[in-house]
Amino acid sequence: MSYELWVNGKEKNMQAVPTEFDSPTYLDVLSQLDNAAEWICLDRNIWNRLRLPQRALCVSMPIKMDSGDVYVFQGFRVQHDSSLGPTKGGVRYHPGVNLGEVAALAMNMTLKCSLVGLPYGGAKGGIRCNPKDLSKKELQRLTRRYTTEIYPLIGPDHDIPAPDVGTNYEVMAWIMDTYSQQRGYAVPGVVTGKPICIGGSLGREEATGRGVVYITLEVLKHLGIKAEESTAIVQGFGNVGSVAARFLTSSNIKVTGLSDSTCGIYNNNGLDIADVTSYKKARHTLEGYPNGEMIDNKTLLESECTILIPAALSGQITEENAGRLNCKVIIEGANSPTTKEADGILNERGIFVVPDILANSGGVIVSYFEWVQDLQKYFWKEKEINERLHEIITTAFDKALKFSVSENIPMRKASMVSAIKRLADAHLARGLYP
Ligand code: GLU
Repeated sequence: MSYELWVNGKEKNMQAVPTEFDSPTYLDVLSQLDNAAEWICLDRNIWNRLRLPQRALCVSMPIKMDSGDVYVFQGFRVQHDSSLGPTKGGVRYHPGVNLGEVAALAMNMTLKCSLVGLPYGGAKGGIRCNPKDLSKKELQRLTRRYTTEIYPLIGPDHDIPAPDVGTNYEVMAWIMDTYSQQRGYAVPGVVTGKPICIGGSLGREEATGRGVVYITLEVLKHLGIKAEESTAIVQGFGNVGSVAARFLTSSNIKVTGLSDSTCGIYNNNGLDIADVTSYKKARHTLEGYPNGEMIDNKTLLESECTILIPAALSGQITEENAGRLNCKVIIEGANSPTTKEADGILNERGIFVVPDILANSGGVIVSYFEWVQDLQKYFWKEKEINERLHEIITTAFDKALKFSVSENIPMRKASMVSAIKRLADAHLARGLYP
C-alpha cells in the first residue's frame, strides 16, 4: 500500500482503513476525500466515518447457464452514507468488479449527490462478469437472482439502483420487475434509468453525456476559448461517451478522436459522429472504421486537443501518461479516471480538470427527477427535464469555480470541500446514534 493514511492512519491521528476495501480505486477516492478533509480541518469523528462505507453486502449467485452448467457469480452492493437520504448509485457488470472498487464508487456517489444538492447518500453495486459473453437469458437470470439477493437492502426509500458500466435500461426493467413481484405491486421508484413505459424519465438515457457537454461549455466560457476553435477527444463510446460526442458536435466542437474497448479512431478534420454511431451499431466495434485513422488507447489519450473526456473506466490517467497529455481541459465523464499521482501532475501542469463528481453528475441528477416523477406519479416534459438539469449542474459548477478561484485551489478540491461540508452539517445535525 502506497498511501500512508491507509495503513498508518494513527500517524495522522486517524483510524486505518481495513484491508477489506483494498483496491487502487478506493485509495484514489480516499486520498481525494482526505485531501479536502485535511484542508478544512474536518472533525476527526466525521472524517473517520466518511472513510468507510456504512453497509456492504457480498453475494454469491448460482446461475444456470444456457449450456446447462451452473456457474457461481460474485456480486456486491455497498451503501456508503445515508445521512442525506436514501442511498443512490448504479450497478456495474464488468470482469474487474470487486468489493474495494464498489465501495470506492459508493463513496464517490455520496460526494456527488452532496455536491449537486440531491437528497441522497451514495451506493454502488456490481457483479463480476463479462456481460458481452452472456446471452440475454443468462443476463436476465443473473439480474433477477442478484435483485433477490440484495432485496433487503433496496427500495424507493432505502437504496435506489441505476445503470452503470455494462448495464442498461433493460437490466433496470428486470430489477424493477423482480422487486415488484416480491412486493405484489408495481414499484417503479425502486430503480432509475428504466424504460419510459414502466416509469422511466424522458432524457435519462442521455443525461450524463448531456451534463458533460453543459459543463464543457461552461469551462470554455470561463477560459475564454471559443467552441468552434476547440477540439475534443472522447475515450469510451458507451452511454456517456457516445452521447457526449454527439452533443459536442452539435455545440460546434470538433471531435477528432474517439475510442471503444477495442480500439481508437482519429481524424484531424473531425469525425462524423452519426456515421461512427451507425458503424458501431452495425458491427459492435469501432475497429476497421473507414473514415478515420486507427490508433491505440495510449496514443488517443496523448493526442493534441483542447478537451479530453475520459468516459470509460477508472485509472486511465496515471503517473505514467499524465505528463504527456496534450490537452488544456479534462472533463471526467467516467468515475475515478485519474489516479492520485496523476492528479498532482495535472495540477502542476495547469490543466483545468473538472472532477467526476461534478462532470458526470448529470446522470444521477436526472435519476433524481425520475424518482420524484415515480413517487408523484406525475411525469414531466423533456424540455423541463433538460432545463432543470442545466440549472442544477451549471449552478454547482459556478459555485465550485468561484470557490476554486477565491481560494486558489483546483476544481477537484473545491468540489470535494463543498460536498464534505454539506455531509458534515447533516452528520452534526443528526447526531450520533445511540
Ligand atoms: N451510475 C451513474 C453514476 O455513477 C448514475 C447513478 C444513478 O443515476 O443513480 O453517477
